[in-house]
Amino acid sequence: MSLRSCAMWLLSAFVAAALTAGHAASQAATVACPVPVAPGQGIDEELFQLREIDMHLHCGLERPIPLEAWIDSAVADGRKVIVGLDHFEGYHRTPEQLAAWRAERDRPPWYGVGAEGRKAFQDDLASLERRKDVVVFRGWEFGEATLDRPPQPDILQGAEVIGFHIGENKGGPAPDGQHLIHRVRQAIALQEQVPIPMILFHPLAMRVANLHRTATAADRDPSTITVAEYRFYTPAQQDTLISLLRGRSIYIEVGRRFVGLWQDPTVRQALIEDIRPLAEAGVQFTVSTDGHGLGGPSFQPNVYCDALGVTPRHTNTIVRELLAARARRAVAAAQEAEVAR
Ligand SMILES: [Zn+2]
Ligand SMILES: [Zn+2]
Repeated sequence: MSLRSCAMWLLSAFVAAALTAGHAASQAATVACPVPVAPGQGIDEELFQLREIDMHLHCGLERPIPLEAWIDSAVADGRKVIVGLDHFEGYHRTPEQLAAWRAERDRPPWYGVGAEGRKAFQDDLASLERRKDVVVFRGWEFGEATLDRPPQPDILQGAEVIGFHIGENKGGPAPDGQHLIHRVRQAIALQEQVPIPMILFHPLAMRVANLHRTATAADRDPSTITVAEYRFYTPAQQDTLISLLRGRSIYIEVGRRFVGLWQDPTVRQALIEDIRPLAEAGVQFTVSTDGHGLGGPSFQPNVYCDALGVTPRHTNTIVRELLAARARRAVAAAQEAEVAR
């Protein structure tokens, strides 16, 4: 539903209410634009709740404790479905570089470098399929520059879902709606070659980080940044994004970084104006912790998702897609094994 058709819905709801009951008409004007329900998502009780979902949990080189205990800690905080991933480029190191990186952060030697290290990591994630208390999908986080290059044939290396780190672009122009639309178009093209679900990680949070850094460097008080400056999308860009993402297996992340952003009423206002129209038009999102370390507060995405209009109906589509793909592959593998016998 476009912004305009949403307005039309409000108008028709208002007229219908006015015709049926006079006192109901005033209520109809304040009713929220409904989230279009995708087929198969009409039973709310069967959807994972927001805090049960983490579509971006770092489980590889940066993990401070063994994998099972790491997943246990997420489950203890309420998670039931997780995408475990690592920075793909973290394995583009020499063994000496990786050893120095580990020593600096006091991280155990979980994995080696290159394709061998990546395979060992994905094999570890695959071993979690036997767990009954949580579903863990296998992922990678790529630098966004990967979208500028033709993909390598081995880009997946066992992953079921991939995402792209939309960066802060320190010292340069802050990421904005135009930049994200460019990345979405590139992801659409990549999906022709690599047909799996894709996520664009933390774009809006990185704009805020860039603006704060740029203001501080210029001796400007970041508290003087306005809602208009924080705004990520123009209305036209919102409409373009809605039309590009409709029916696509490409998702925009609303992550735990929003907890910090939410403290600032100016940032909060910009985020609501940026995200809510997309959510009301049915754009699909992911919720996540982007967790790298232990500790920190419990994951409470409702704190910001409620005001942003992001609900389980926006965040279960990717889960269902990944579950269906896993089930389809299992059936295909079983049939292949039967034929081979
Ligand atoms: Zn990232
Ligand atoms: Zn990350």
